[in-house]
Amino acid sequence: MRKTLDEGRSKGLILAPGTLQSATIGMPGVATLLLIGWSMNRMRLIQLRGFSPGCLTAALWCFLSFASAMPAAIAQEESGRPNANGNDDEAPVNVSVPTWDRLTVKLDAEASRSVDGKIEIEALDGSLLFQDMLGHLLLLKSHEVLEREQHKEPVELTAAALESRLKEELPDGFRLHQTRHYTFCYWTDREYTQWVATLYERLFAGFNNYWKNRGFDPQPAKRPLIVLVFANRAQFERFARTDMKSEPTGIIGYYHVLNNWVVMYDLMADGQFGNRDRGLSQALSHPNAMPMVATIVHEATHQLMYNNGMQQRLADIPLWVSEGLAVYFEAPDITSKQGWKGIGKINVLRYQRAKQYLRQRPADSLATLIQDDKRFRDGTMTLDAYAEAWALNYFLLKKYAKPYQAYLQELSKKTPLVPQTGEERIALFEEKLGKSLNDIDREFVQFLQKLQ
Ligand SMILES: [Zn+2]
Repeated sequence: MRKTLDEGRSKGLILAPGTLQSATIGMPGVATLLLIGWSMNRMRLIQLRGFSPGCLTAALWCFLSFASAMPAAIAQEESGRPNANGNDDEAPVNVSVPTWDRLTVKLDAEASRSVDGKIEIEALDGSLLFQDMLGHLLLLKSHEVLEREQHKEPVELTAAALESRLKEELPDGFRLHQTRHYTFCYWTDREYTQWVATLYERLFAGFNNYWKNRGFDPQPAKRPLIVLVFANRAQFERFARTDMKSEPTGIIGYYHVLNNWVVMYDLMADGQFGNRDRGLSQALSHPNAMPMVATIVHEATHQLMYNNGMQQRLADIPLWVSEGLAVYFEAPDITSKQGWKGIGKINVLRYQRAKQYLRQRPADSLATLIQDDKRFRDGTMTLDAYAEAWALNYFLLKKYAKPYQAYLQELSKKTPLVPQTGEERIALFEEKLGKSLNDIDREFVQFLQKLQ
């Protein structure tokens, strides 16, 4: 649905921290934080601070989170049966868009060109938030849009059109692997890609079952979820440098919230997890591989949440929610043949850190976690913020499942690019949970103290 920002809401548009992309670093204990702005030259990111009323020019936070090492299996809460095993090529998905817009745009020195898609938001100054047919989000200033027309007849993004669009954007030499919900563009071998595909399809099924069992009806996007799997680290770095507009130091995979794809490389390429002949699953269940596997699951979780109606890209979703849930779901289950069983287990590293944090936890810790995302951005506090966010999600999903669900539903309706104040964030939390922050805090701390 097209939305127009009104005066009252256009006091300033800022993107939710963590929404640009969440990448995970394969070095536990290291968090990198970047502030990048976004100017609308397709996916081009530039340094930018500040924003003006009613204008979609916005500062974007790119928050790079980090992986946790995998916990030993403790408690199984949920399992989901996979809808597809990820090993078979499915028929390519054609996406039908009933009403669509064609824009003629001219960006900087580029020649003018047409883009098809959907205007998501139109700001007072005429700038647009536009989603193209591939799912990329574009922020267009009014002077960059030369012409616009709306089409009522449906248009289809066919598999062939999808492939040709991908070829325009990606380095040469990739092959496609289509599963029920994902389109994999891969430069590595097919076996590794199929392994990731199986993992992702099982996560997809388990994740959606998890929410369905709790009364939330996920609305998976009709468009396939795109995953890029490069052959090795060097190739990944070359691409990521352009895609992220920053050095991917220590990063082994990320979700790009504007491009809506997960990017990774073949973890087996460098031979650090032994011989592939032993079987990929066995090699990748090596303890050293587990944090990395957690990373690719973590990033896929972000992609799922942004594509099943739980969260809107570029909406102000508090990081304790988006990162806390990704950490909650990141535990992979690569041994089970029956489906995803990793959901709901205690994340041991986050748990241990949260227990440590309890010893010096400030009285206003819950308030600072919820009211803004500063603790996630400050490298000295990031680990504690992630640990507390994991613990809070764990607590709420165990003890306040329904009210928390209602809170998440409310967040799912948030308009992209409209920030909430700290007071608004806390008020919404208290309203949906039905208790004061102090009461919740008391129960939360008691719960965590007893948790084993
Ligand atoms: Zn994340």
